[in-house]
Amino acid sequence: MGLTEIQDNIARVEAQWECAGRTRLIAVSKVQPDDRVAAVLDQGHRCFGENRVQEAAGKWPAFRETYGEIDLHLIGPLQSNKARQAFELFNVIHTLDRPKLATTFARLADEMGHCPDMLIQVNTGREDQKAGVLPEEVDDFVRQCQDLSLPVKGLMCIPPVDEEASLHFALLDKMAARNGVPWRSMGMSSDYDVAISLGATHVRVGSAIFGERVASPQ
Ligand SMILES: *Cc1c(COP(=O)(O)O)cnc(C)c1O
Repeated sequence: MGLTEIQDNIARVEAQWECAGRTRLIAVSKVQPDDRVAAVLDQGHRCFGENRVQEAAGKWPAFRETYGEIDLHLIGPLQSNKARQAFELFNVIHTLDRPKLATTFARLADEMGHCPDMLIQVNTGREDQKAGVLPEEVDDFVRQCQDLSLPVKGLMCIPPVDEEASLHFALLDKMAARNGVPWRSMGMSSDYDVAISLGATHVRVGSAIFGERVASPQ
């Protein structure tokens, strides 16, 4: 995919996003070559998502140096021993998914005097291979995180590939409403329009902007 084509893509997806009003478009740049990411930055876009701390640490400090403030979102699973580095790099963490991580975050927030905004990942499809708390655990976990004074702003989900995504989006929206948290991170390249129509506040779009990923992330 050529760089001009990538810039057309971001313009097209941004236009759809602006129609939706309140939805934030996260351009998912994991494993994309730097020139493609720079093409999107040159277009003026400043909100990106990465799913590995290590990879993000390798490229975003330099991009921030060149392009100024960039809103960076962690959308992949986080090991506790990478939490400090994640705090330093990311504005928002979408993958708070277990009590141990919540405790680590609370300690770091105390120590570092700041804390990224957070979303709790929900395993709406109950898949063994996916991270996230189960739907029936969400209410308790939200409370638990709030008791630790973590800035929990919403919920995030990744629906199973072989199921109707809209059912999962509707479920996530309902759980977020029930818990009084404003953000819903849902929708990817294949279904972000559906997600927006069901109340997404953050869509995570990779291949529809950058083209297919060449390498696959670990
Ligand atoms: C890679 C990834 C995306 C983007 O996927 P596309 O299908 O390329 O849009 C969205 N969310 C998460 C959690 C991802 O890991």
